[in-house]
Amino acid sequence: MEKGLIMRSTGSWYEIRSESGKVFDGRLKGKFKMKGLQTSNPIAVGDWVMFEMEDEGNQKVIIDEILPRKNYIIRKSVHNAHHGQLMACNLDQALFVMTLKMPKTSLGFLDRFLVSAEAFRIPVTIVFNKMDLLNEHEQEEVFELAGLYQSLGYGILLTSVDKNQGLEDFKELFQGKITLLAGHSGVGKSSLMNVVSPGLNIKTNEISDFAKKGVHTTTYATMWELGEGTFLIDSPGINEMGLLDIEEAELSHYFPEMRDLLGECKFNNCRHIKEPGCAVIRSMETGEIAVSRYLSYLSMMENHDNRR
Ligand code: GDP
Ligand code: ZN
Repeated sequence: MEKGLIMRSTGSWYEIRSESGKVFDGRLKGKFKMKGLQTSNPIAVGDWVMFEMEDEGNQKVIIDEILPRKNYIIRKSVHNAHHGQLMACNLDQALFVMTLKMPKTSLGFLDRFLVSAEAFRIPVTIVFNKMDLLNEHEQEEVFELAGLYQSLGYGILLTSVDKNQGLEDFKELFQGKITLLAGHSGVGKSSLMNVVSPGLNIKTNEISDFAKKGVHTTTYATMWELGEGTFLIDSPGINEMGLLDIEEAELSHYFPEMRDLLGECKFNNCRHIKEPGCAVIRSMETGEIAVSRYLSYLSMMENHDNRR
């Protein structure tokens, strides 16, 4: 048996890269039993599997086992609430590319992404791109945001593809890791990837576009090998990384600045909306919690209510 990494999936066939770098087409063993996670698809991009040759002649392989995952992204099924679709596994990090203008990325969108990443335990670096378009005042705004999000534990990088700012650091971020790239379309994801891996032919709209809402046709993620042990996950279908699965009572746990305060509210079932003796509201009033972050929290709670 050999160990391999899933690079692509059609739902029944999988493209597997062996540790020696050979690529095979494989299927699951006939009587494969799913353990643990109940998802509509048992395997996703990023899964490590054990496989064996089925037929030396045509290079087809059989997958016998899925190795334990360190994390995964699930999208809840539109058709069946109990089944989610497994989108990608074993991510080392997500890079969220955003711009202050052309286009403007809202903080609400960023915060929703960060909450999902927290829920799935995926470290995030926020990349502020198109710095060359900003005047002094707008640059100040970015520095302030960078300070805020850095204090919450997120990585920060300021870049400009046009002025060659931060591009070496951007490239460095990828080395030896499995990375998910996210952000609105138009923020410069393709342009940045072109710096990391010239000639990598990912069409702009094929890169994960978290902004697209609504019903998705089934789309599977793809993994691109950029170099030794360096992979990019491109996943057009991930919609806010499955935020819909987060319970209302859990939400504040995924705001690092609220997480630490949770024992301090007067009521232990506090929703941090208008309850008396709420430590979160108090911290927002004293400026320890950023108002924009608290507003993102409220807006996510509201969306929850609307779904009932
Ligand atoms: P994607 O949709 O996120 O992949 O964005 P693209 O890479 O296609 O970029 C969208 C547009 O922004 C293109 O016209 C790029 O040339 C432009 N662009 C990308 N990065 C920068 C940057 O740092 N500064 C400026 N001024 N334009 C940029
Ligand atoms: Zn509270």
